This record gives sequence, C-alpha cells and structure tokens, in this order.
Amino acid sequence: MGKTLLLDIEGTVCPISFVKDILFPYFVSQVPKLISQRGSNDEKIDGILKSFEIKESEQLKNHILDLVARDIKDSKLKSLQGFVWQNGYMDGSIKAPIYKDAINLISNPDNNVYIYSSGSVKAQKLLFQYACDIDDLERKPINLIPFIKGYFDITTSGPKIESQSYKNILKDINIQGEDILFLSDNPLELDAARKCNIDVGLALRPGNYPVANKSDYPNYTTFTNL
Ligand SMILES: [Mg+2]
Repeated sequence: MGKTLLLDIEGTVCPISFVKDILFPYFVSQVPKLISQRGSNDEKIDGILKSFEIKESEQLKNHILDLVARDIKDSKLKSLQGFVWQNGYMDGSIKAPIYKDAINLISNPDNNVYIYSSGSVKAQKLLFQYACDIDDLERKPINLIPFIKGYFDITTSGPKIESQSYKNILKDINIQGEDILFLSDNPLELDAARKCNIDVGLALRPGNYPVANKSDYPNYTTFTNL
C-alpha cells in the first residue's frame, strides 16, 4: 500500500551539511567571476546583477556577499542564487547527495510524495532534478521530479515551526492530517505538524543536531521499511 508523505529536505533526505558546506560556498565562489564578466554572463544573471543598481564591481561583490553572510532574505539574491545553482547542477559542479533509502521512497510509484523545506521551491526542484545517490556520487544524477506531487516553502505555506503552515498544506493537498506522514529532523517542526493531527517521524541522520526528546517521536534512522 502506498503512503502519502510530506518530506523535509536537510537532515531528512540529504545531509544537513549540503546547503551549508556545498550549496552556499559554491554560490560565494562564483560571485567574483560573475561580476568580472558582467555583460557576458547569461542574460538572466546579468539582468539580476544590474538590478542591484551598483556600478562599482568591488562594491557590488561586497554587497552580495554581505547579504549571503547575514542570511538576508532578499528576492534578488534568491533569484541570482537560483540561476547560479542551476548552472552548477547542470555542469556537474554541484551534486545533491540524497540518501538511497530516500531515493527509493520517493521513486516508489505507489507513494504520494510532497516536499516542505525552507529553501525555495525553485531550489528544491533543482535538488530533486539532479539527485545523486549519496553512496555513489559519480553516477549520473537521477531526476526525481516526475515522482513528486508538490512542493511547499515558506512563501507558499508559512514558517515550518508554525502549525498554521501545516493547515495550509493539508488544505492545498486536500487531505486529512492522519492520512499523511511528515518526516523531519527538527522536533519543533514535528510538534507544529502534530497539532494538525499529522503523523510524524523524526529523521535521525549522520551529522544531524542531537535531539534531547527523541523518544517523543517515532525515530527513523532509515526509510527502508516505510
Ligand atoms: Mg531539516
């Protein structure tokens, strides 16, 4: 029997370190080059760089890197990151390491899988379009997009630790809480979901932050038996 699942990304289907240690540093590493070749990047990237309205290269670079460092939710920064990451995934510089059991869970055609992450829907789709088996990163990426029924982020649904966000998602999917299982590494997110009667499971992956009240939730070190 198939299941309806709502999956978190970081710490659940991929290591928590991916965004912090790979995705963000990749973007930062590309910024000086994009700025020095302004005018000959692809049109979309040059368009966004222009929209910052800073002519001086050093100043523009510092502004962008400062937004990243302070984790400012700037829409121009977000779209620039989206395009830079897209190029990185496409040329193989970025590989999204997905746990094998998560790949199997998502690609099981009997399951209805939805994603809820604080990363933008665009970034989520890139990650699943270029999914790599974490144990075999050199293999060609697998496109998991055809298996995923929907994507939610903080702009579509609200913050992940608020129960209203899960209400919004249930309404969007048109499902009752008890008919869906939400898997995440963050107990605050699980608590918020549980207030909407959603079945929850705590993902325990290598490198995740330790959870003091682990025993309050069903624990999943693997999704193999789901
Ligand atoms: Mg997470």
